[in-house]
Parts: sequence; structure tokens; C-alpha cells
Amino acid sequence: MVELREEETEAGEAFEHRFEGLGVSSGIAIGPAHVIERGLIDLPEYGLAEHEVAGEVERFEEAVAVSTKQLRKLRSKASDLPGAAAEELSYLLDAHLQMLKGSRLVRGVAERIRRQHINAEAAVQGALVEIGQAFAEVSDRYLASRIDDVREVGTRIVRNLSKVPYQAFSSLPQGAIIIAEEITPADTALMDPTKVGGFASALGGAEGHTAIMARSLGLPAVLGVPSLVTTAKPGDLIIVDGTRGHVVVHPSRETVGRYQRRREALLRRQRQLDRLRGIAAITRDGERIGLQCNLELPSELVLAHAAGAEGIGLLRSEFMYMNRDQPPGEEEQYRVLRTIVEGMGGHPVTVRTLDVGSDKLAYSLGEHLSPSVNPALGLRAIRLSLKVRPLLEAQIGAMLRASAHGPVRILLPMITTVGEVKAVRELILRVARRLSRSRVAISDPLPPVGVMIETPGAALAADALAQTADFFSLGTNDLTMYTLAIDRGDEQVAHLYDPLHPAVLRLVQFAIAAARRAHIPVNLCGEMAGNPRFTALLLGLGLRDLSMASPSLPRVKQRILDLDLGEASRRAEQIMLQSDSGVIAALIDDFNALD
Ligand code: PEP
Ligand code: MG
Repeated sequence: MVELREEETEAGEAFEHRFEGLGVSSGIAIGPAHVIERGLIDLPEYGLAEHEVAGEVERFEEAVAVSTKQLRKLRSKASDLPGAAAEELSYLLDAHLQMLKGSRLVRGVAERIRRQHINAEAAVQGALVEIGQAFAEVSDRYLASRIDDVREVGTRIVRNLSKVPYQAFSSLPQGAIIIAEEITPADTALMDPTKVGGFASALGGAEGHTAIMARSLGLPAVLGVPSLVTTAKPGDLIIVDGTRGHVVVHPSRETVGRYQRRREALLRRQRQLDRLRGIAAITRDGERIGLQCNLELPSELVLAHAAGAEGIGLLRSEFMYMNRDQPPGEEEQYRVLRTIVEGMGGHPVTVRTLDVGSDKLAYSLGEHLSPSVNPALGLRAIRLSLKVRPLLEAQIGAMLRASAHGPVRILLPMITTVGEVKAVRELILRVARRLSRSRVAISDPLPPVGVMIETPGAALAADALAQTADFFSLGTNDLTMYTLAIDRGDEQVAHLYDPLHPAVLRLVQFAIAAARRAHIPVNLCGEMAGNPRFTALLLGLGLRDLSMASPSLPRVKQRILDLDLGEASRRAEQIMLQSDSGVIAALIDDFNALD
């Protein structure tokens, strides 16, 4: 639930606005706002052949449909705001929605594409210029100012057509706080954590990939805060408290002081934890636990080292495909992977094949990713890789070549059938033969091939999958989403997203048991692994290897050092007899408090 409170500060100063949202990445950032407006993007104009026109009109209509969906979502959130704010924002969004229903803009664009045989982006720009000229002749100042709304709707359509991310954030003032309606994983990939202080947006859920990237980069972030974009002006002082999920615009001097003290305390705690870097993660009763890091970007390698990671448990290869027009080839990927493998100095690097689709979009793959009625159930991850074989071949070639420089493990996302694993294994053998024929060095034996257990189907078929996989990696982010049918990136249902639901835990337990029966290693790389609240439960269920965002590793290690594994296993047994996630949560919290 979102709350808005206004407090008057000293006379003459601006009002302090406080918002509550989803705190998705802990820490406190205080800095000037960088508000992202939807500026018109400079896009090329190109001609179309007669037979391409109908397809282009369809592409435009799809972008209008996506824009409508976004606005409806914002509209439903706007009504959560109290009083006048709700009314004002709703009124504006209604006007925008109205414009998407056969307005002069929408009709004009379709007509331009048909008449002038030009691409949709150019047609939108042309229509905006024409409408702008007509508005300029209107003498009523109120009516004339409505051109801003038309422009805003137009740029929304253009952005949805081109899937162009926000501009790189390189010219921001130090410590800037990015404020936007929506921040995609591709946008987050452009943020340099040494420059950006943190971010907050209206849309997005706690387990979506934007949130995951914020945690990996150690950037404080709050999502799900509507009307921020209209309240905060560029340069305004903003506080983002990702630990508690608060955003404060125009904080008073007292408020700034309070947050500065809390930030200092958090940093002191972090420094204490940093001292654990060289210490092995061993429970009080002597069990050694393997702690690895998840990597979204190569730049995080420094953080993984600083945290004392014993390897990369999950390298999300998606970053190589973001913010570019063409997908990378084998050679480019090989060079990136080689740097990471060498950087890990003999520790294993688990490289996952491409997992785009759903909330992870890469417009370099635009031609292969058509809009899906239900993207999370569509052409995502391994399904896309097996459909577009050259993409998979380039990835596998790069991984095999990188394996000559250190231990590499290949991980396959969104596997649901044994047939998919077999198909990839055949392809790996084929690529290995090709490389060997060309005398290119690869590891011998070939890298192990593992399977993400992240759908209920894969968990329930874990015995069969364990016969074809060399290891399992439990992806509880997607496993929770698909088991409970809750979109992990949708802030409207975030309160229902619950990895402690007995159904999810039973699937986790089932997959661990299957791996044990087949004598293959199993680890967990979902976000649960990085939350010390869940450590006792996960170890109690039998896991001995966890992979997480680097900033989380010291906290989890501290928890392991405090833990008695025998007691944790007994508590996990008790938990697995429960049918209510509220009771399960209480049993976990009690146990953590006792220890
Ligand atoms: C998961 O689903 O738990 C996982 C680790 O993969 P991703 O978050 O990249 O989908
Ligand atoms: Mg996943």
C-alpha cells in the first residue's frame, strides 16, 4: 500500500513528501534527483516496400496496445494515492488513454505508414510535428498546453516501438538518484554504481530482474511508487531508503540528519562484515558451506572478489545482449567469458545460456522475440535458444573456448523436458568437434552441463532430469512465480509472492532429494540464497552450496557461522510438516531469534 504524507518544514522551505514503496535493494542514498522524462528519440526514417506496409501498421498497433497496457497499470496504481493526487494523476492518465483510442495521432500515424510507406517511428514523429503546428495556432493557452500530453503519448509509443532504453547515465552528477516511471533491467545495466546513488520508480516488483540487478550492484532502490515522476523535479534533494522502502522528496534538515546517521550505522555494520572475507563458511557443528556469487555484469567481478566468493554460481549472460542492435558473436562472447574465467583464478564459473523473454528483453533479439500474449509462458530462455540455433551455437562455442582457461560449467535456464537437455548436449558435442577440428583449445573433459530447476514441472520431473544433467541449480525466483502463478515483476501482486509457501518448499525439497539419489551436486541461486533469514531453512533442507548477489554474501556467511546445522535440520523437518506459510515464517523467525 502506498502512502503519501506531507509535512511542513521551516518557513519558506519546500514541503517534505514521503512515499512508501517496495524496498528491493537495501541501503540509503541521499542525492539530487535525475528525473527521466520521455524525450523524443532521434530515430532514422526508412522506406517500406508495398508488401511490408501491412506488417508495419500491425507493429504500430502492437506498440499502441503495449502503451495502453502500461497506462492502465499506472492508472490502477494512481487510485491508491490519497486525495487530490489520485484525482490529478488519474485525470492525466485517462486523457492519455483516450488519445490511444483512435485519436488524430493514432489515426494519423497509420495513415502515414500506408500513404508514405515509411516506418512507424518516423510516422509518429511526422504526426507529432503536424499536430504541434496545429496546436501552435490555437489561441487558448490551456488548449495549446495539451500538446505536451500528445507528445508524451507519442514518445511512449516510439519507445515501445523501438525498445530503446533510457540514455546512458554517464553525465549525471555524483550520487544522483534516478527517478522514472519504469526502469528496465537494460537501463539498470547502464548504471555505474560509483556514480549513481540509487533509484526509485513507479513500476516493478521485488523479484523482477531490475530489482535483482539493483541488489547485485549494491544500489539502494525502491519500486512501486506512483506519482514520484510528477512530484520530484530535476535536482531536488531525494532520499531513497531501500532497506525500509521509503522515498523522501525535499527532506527537511532534520530528516537528512536522521538518514545520514542511519546510513553511517549501516556502513559500519558492512565494514564489520567485510572482515569475514577470508574466513570459511563453517557451521558451529563443523559443516563447510560453499558460497558463490551471481553475476549480472562483468564489472561486478570486483565485488565478488571483495565478498570472498568461491566461484560464480550463476553468470547471467543476458548482459551481453542488452543495449545494442545486434547480438554478439562467438568471438566477442569468448573474450568476455575468458576475462571472467581468468579473473576467478581457478574457481568455477557457471555460465547460463541466454535467458531473455518475459521481463528480460533484449532488443538486439527483436527479430526473434515477437510480442507474446503471456511472455512468462512464451518463447523464453532455452526455448528461444533451441529455436534460433545460431544464437545457441555462438554461446556454446564461446563457453567451450573459455573452458580452456579455467573451470567452466554450462547451465540451462527454463528446462522443462529431458529432450531439451539432450538437444543441447548434442549441440555441445557438435560444436566441440568443430572447434577440435580447427585445433581451437577447449577443456577435456567437456564442461559439466547443469539444469535450472525453476518450473514446477522440472522440480516434479527432477529424477528424470537428474539422469541427463550433471548438476542442478534451484531457481526459486521463477519456481515461486510459476508455482503460485504470481508475476515476480508485478508490484500489484508482490504481497502474494511467497517463497515460503509450502508448495514451493516441497518442490525444493523434492529436487534436492532427486539430486542426492542421482549423486549430482545441487545448489540454489535464486534470491532466497542471499537472504540470511532463509539460510537455516535452506541448509536444513540439505543444501550445502548457495549462490547470491555479492553484497549479500557476508551477511549469509555470518549467519552460517552462528548456526548449528543439526538444529537447523530438525527445524526444517518441523517446517515441512506445516501447511500454512504464516506458521512457516513464524517457525523460521523464532529459530533465527533463538540462535
Ligand atoms: C531464478 O529464477 O531463481 C533464477 C536464479 O534465474 P533468474 O532470476 O535469472 O530468472
Ligand atoms: Mg529464472
